[in-house]
Amino acid sequence: MSFLSRHLSQATRRALLTPHIRLSSTAASPLEASKLVIEKTSSPKAKIPKDELVFGKTFTDHMLEIEWDQATGWGAPKISPYHNLSLDPSTIVFHYAFELFEGMKAYKDAQGQIRTFRGDKNMIRMNKSAERIALPKFKGEELQKLIDQLLILDQDFIPEGKGYSLYIRPTMIGTSASLGVSTPDKALLYVIASPVGPYYSSGFKPVSLEATDYAVRAWPGGVGDKKLGANYAPCVLPQLKAAERGFHQNLWLFGDEGYITEVGTMNVFFVIKDPKTGKKELVTAPLDGTILEGVTRDSILELTRQRLPADEWIVSERKFTIHEVKEAAEKGNLVEAFGAGTAAVVSPIKNIGYKGEDIDVPVALGNSGELTAQIAEWIRKIQYGEEEYKDWSRVAQ
Ligand SMILES: *Cc1c(COP(=O)(O)O)cnc(C)c1O
Repeated sequence: MSFLSRHLSQATRRALLTPHIRLSSTAASPLEASKLVIEKTSSPKAKIPKDELVFGKTFTDHMLEIEWDQATGWGAPKISPYHNLSLDPSTIVFHYAFELFEGMKAYKDAQGQIRTFRGDKNMIRMNKSAERIALPKFKGEELQKLIDQLLILDQDFIPEGKGYSLYIRPTMIGTSASLGVSTPDKALLYVIASPVGPYYSSGFKPVSLEATDYAVRAWPGGVGDKKLGANYAPCVLPQLKAAERGFHQNLWLFGDEGYITEVGTMNVFFVIKDPKTGKKELVTAPLDGTILEGVTRDSILELTRQRLPADEWIVSERKFTIHEVKEAAEKGNLVEAFGAGTAAVVSPIKNIGYKGEDIDVPVALGNSGELTAQIAEWIRKIQYGEEEYKDWSRVAQ
């Protein structure tokens, strides 16, 4: 027995040894796409007809898995037939929510190539989520290469046509089998994919929202800006309550001021006209730690800043309240509003219930505002490779 182990308590010894373990883990293997092993299915699934697809209910033939161990690092990535996971009931993910996820899509372009949209942003966000809950980080480009291989293998599952896509769900869980609340020493990163139809099969359908004033989604210093599974279960009840009162979704407010933050699981944008200058302002909440850093949100901000005439438009990330929106609506200055996220790209809003009153949101084109429709088209063209914009669309190869 060494001096250390004889004279120090177990806890102190662990504290002293932890930095040592951390140091040696930097020598552990990084995630490497070149180590990929593929085991193909021998019983391919029947393809569901395009018009019968239900979001997130059916999956492709294969899945990608990469195991991580604190001592050895990332193992060899494996693509194998879609299967159940087998985990000890004490596994840390089941008790303390060591889980994070991403949501992205693959699209077939007119040449039959497979494209993903700004996946590098998803990889950065996934690493931020991992860091926050003490799960391992990885090189985003390596996971993107692996996802490309899964997409190529399962490409027959990517439905073709406007609005059709393959939803991709990268996930990471802590897999240490222990009830101790501690840093997971084992993790599993996996990716599954589900074919999806257009969010709006026959044109936009504007939604009605209920402003939730009795619960908050996220708070300063919290984790609302990370895609952690733990953020989502508590959001379902307020959505259910909104639905019971006849609304499609709920609008998340924050604080006594009634700051507008997000809608359901989407970022939210409003267009408000300034009657003095005649300029229109496209406004969304700033990334203050309570807002999920949406890839769609970021894309909308960049495209509108670049493409809307500066003498007619202002694009803002700033705090704004339900009262400001209500007043703008009453004075005829509210132009349009929409949610923004990967699933729908944009989702027009037609009214907001707030403390028993209705705030009517104009939908100039009948089912959406003009800017909402314009943005949907700009982004769709880039996603389906009809237009190249910077490096936003990646062809799997
Ligand atoms: C995923 C998500 C969004 C949208 O992010 P995208 O990257 O645009 O899909 C917005 N808000 C919440 C709470 C989310 O979980």
